[in-house]
Amino acid sequence: MAVVSRCSRAATAAITANATTATTFAYLIRSLSPFSSSSSTFDPQNDLNNRNKPAVLGTLKRESKGRNVQWVFLGCPGVGKGTYASRLSNLLGVPHIATGDLVRDELASSGPLSSQLKEIVTQGKLVSDEIIIDLLSKRLEAGEAKGESGFILDGFPRTVRQAEILEGVTDIDLVINLKLREEALLAKCLGRRICSECGGNYNVACINIKAENGRPGMYMAPLPPPPQCASKLITRPDDTEEVVKQRLRIYQAMTRPVEDFYRSRGKLLEFDLPGGIPESWPKLLCALNLEDREDKQSAAA
Ligand code: ADP
Repeated sequence: MAVVSRCSRAATAAITANATTATTFAYLIRSLSPFSSSSSTFDPQNDLNNRNKPAVLGTLKRESKGRNVQWVFLGCPGVGKGTYASRLSNLLGVPHIATGDLVRDELASSGPLSSQLKEIVTQGKLVSDEIIIDLLSKRLEAGEAKGESGFILDGFPRTVRQAEILEGVTDIDLVINLKLREEALLAKCLGRRICSECGGNYNVACINIKAENGRPGMYMAPLPPPPQCASKLITRPDDTEEVVKQRLRIYQAMTRPVEDFYRSRGKLLEFDLPGGIPESWPKLLCALNLEDREDKQSAAA
């Protein structure tokens, strides 16, 4: 259970010393509506000074002191946040919480928010901070009730305001910023397929970028579904060329500054994906000082 370590000024009075991330989020969504202006400071100069100082090793030490990891995945649409966050979640035994999935679940539920969300998501825009924090706090509360602790967040925070709110309620240990060549991002979104039954993510795109002008080539094999999913594949309605381009523009405008936010705090681990899962997964584990014994065994078999 995550103990609140820092609180936004607005929330300080009401948050008890042992409030959890979920209850604090729930409190914030009730008390900060409309959200008060930022209480934490963002100093771009400081950010520049700290550009090369990810505090990864310090982070891993802190985790060994007792609680489960609290990590965030950043990266453009199509980069593979879901794929790697879900693999790490299995490896570390912490929940993978993707706010995009929470939004899609809410959309599918035909609840009161559903039509409003549909319009926003199909235009590639961001859902309001209030709605997304409400969905996230409900998810964290439900997880806590089941005894979950720690998390790997995927798709949150996506704005500096969201990052400030998160910082106000809990400590984030590490932010993994996945990066992939731009040519591959659109192709990966357009090739994405989801199993309508199990929710598994697959990809039909075969990305083969030739080496050019001293830049190395890159190959990413398709990620085919297992036979039981093959006939149940669907495409996300926001994975059209026009909407993906809009999501990429919004990422640059709204989420790129979140990278600076965490960089300035020494929490950002930049990770350039060298290719598909077979090349990238072992390198990511190495960057994180982790080992996947099962993966090693299956590779050796
Ligand atoms: P992407 O592939 O673009 O990273 P996601 O699956 O993470 O997509 O999210 C799908 C959609 O859900 C987003 O385009 C946005 O409308 C909404 N969404 C998800 N997370 C957030 C967030 N943290 N803030 C605002 N909107 C969000």
